[in-house]
Amino acid sequence: MRTIGVLTSGGDAPGMNAAIRAVVRQAAALDMEVIGIARGYAGLIQGDFRRLNTGSVADIIHRGGTILLTARSEEFRTEAGRAIAVDNLRREGIEGLVVIGGDGSFRGALHLAQKGIQVIGIPGTIDNDIAGTDYTIGFDTAVNTAVEAINRIRDTATSHERIFIIEVMGRNSGQIALAAGIAGGAESILIPEYPVDYDRVVERIERGRHRGKLHSIIVVAEGVGSALEVGREIGRRTNLESRVTILGHIQRGGAPTAFDCLLASRLGAYAVELLAAGASGRMVGIAANELVDRDLEKVLQERKTIDPDLYRLAEVLAL
Ligand code: ADP
Repeated sequence: MRTIGVLTSGGDAPGMNAAIRAVVRQAAALDMEVIGIARGYAGLIQGDFRRLNTGSVADIIHRGGTILLTARSEEFRTEAGRAIAVDNLRREGIEGLVVIGGDGSFRGALHLAQKGIQVIGIPGTIDNDIAGTDYTIGFDTAVNTAVEAINRIRDTATSHERIFIIEVMGRNSGQIALAAGIAGGAESILIPEYPVDYDRVVERIERGRHRGKLHSIIVVAEGVGSALEVGREIGRRTNLESRVTILGHIQRGGAPTAFDCLLASRLGAYAVELLAAGASGRMVGIAANELVDRDLEKVLQERKTIDPDLYRLAEVLAL
């Protein structure tokens, strides 16, 4: 294989740049050319290509976002749009493609693999909602950002003796909420994978007050519903006022943590090695700190589950 392409697609995640850098540098080590494709599948259809060399990816490992930019493309969801994309890849001599993104981007990648383009997916999303890998690129950074926010809010919660409800990202996934909730010492963590038990939330608040603790931190994944509504429900049941903070996009940006830079570097390089070895329709990932590659189609059929031990731990530690 002489020429490969790389794109970032869907929601951006800190560490995507480190992955792009690793793709380019591993490819150079294997004497392959790399074409960067701007704005994900939108740029693939528009033919927005730029040659990347080792110098083009200098000084980006520590930057959030993605130098290749990212976008969502409705046109790529159509057969006609994808046909243009495949033509563009062939015309440019791109034989293999690295797609860095979330599950939507992987669904698109699978279509390309079925059309004979050699494709490897790298999981890049703060949500950590992709099966077949313990971690996705960006998750660790997002969790660190959320924990920092929780700790700041805790200072105010303690000083004012109030209940604080903090909504973190995760439309379908409680991964960020659970990790940040445990690491941030939250009293209750509400995630979409488990039914919301207001009786227990209230019991915890009341037990805390009984032993003289007058503040409470409750972490809610956005997939559970509106944090404002959670606050109102707690208010109805306890007659206590609460304050709601929605962290929102703050969790998506910022410099990647060392963990994410290291993960992205390993996955980026591994994706290129797999392309060089002739693999296609695979996703690279990490399991028990070992690099793994999985069938992309199977990964998309599975739903990532919450570690039940971690959920139990959250219950025990919040007592
Ligand atoms: P993410 O990769 O972060 O989950 P999206 O779900 O927005 O982000 O997907 C990114 C892009 O991938 C979409 O804009 C679309 O171009 C493409 N895509 C998503 N799902 C499909 C699909 N089922 N078929 C073809 N392309 C898809």
